[in-house]
Amino acid sequence: MDCIFCKIIDGEIPAVKVLDEELVIAFMDINPSSKGHMLVVPKRHAENIFEIPESDLAATIKAVKICAKAVKEVLNAEGITVLQLNGKASDQIVPHFHIHIIPRWENDGLPVSTWEMKKGDMKEIQEIARKVKEYIPSGS
Ligand code: 5GP
Ligand code: ZN
Repeated sequence: MDCIFCKIIDGEIPAVKVLDEELVIAFMDINPSSKGHMLVVPKRHAENIFEIPESDLAATIKAVKICAKAVKEVLNAEGITVLQLNGKASDQIVPHFHIHIIPRWENDGLPVSTWEMKKGDMKEIQEIARKVKEYIPSGS
């Protein structure tokens, strides 16, 4: 498979690793959105949140917490954005599940802070919520 993150995991291409566990690795992003931007990646290939097994997801989010705390301390970050994209429409570029850790500082001007917020249509919001609740299996 021609997956850039699988190649990093297999050691075929280099990466600046910060964590290497049984199920998960974390490495620095080569195009950092802010100082300290890193990616936490399950070793087993899964394209997105719909495909990743729960056990890998749990291990990945656990590693996110560890890495987020570490980079926050080391860089004195004032906040951390945790970001995860699924599908082209959400701007996912690399089709191997990963979670971004993006250290943040007040007024750093990153676009994730400036998403447009506009007043919603309460009827539509409630209708979507009703359908979603119906779809979610009971006991979840
Ligand atoms: P996404 O798929 O969530 O949009 O983002 C993919 C991320 O992977 C980008 O932030 C990009 O800079 C990073 N990336 C892409 N290729 C490589 C690579 O070969 N090495 C590293 N370290 N990061 C990469
Ligand atoms: Zn992969």
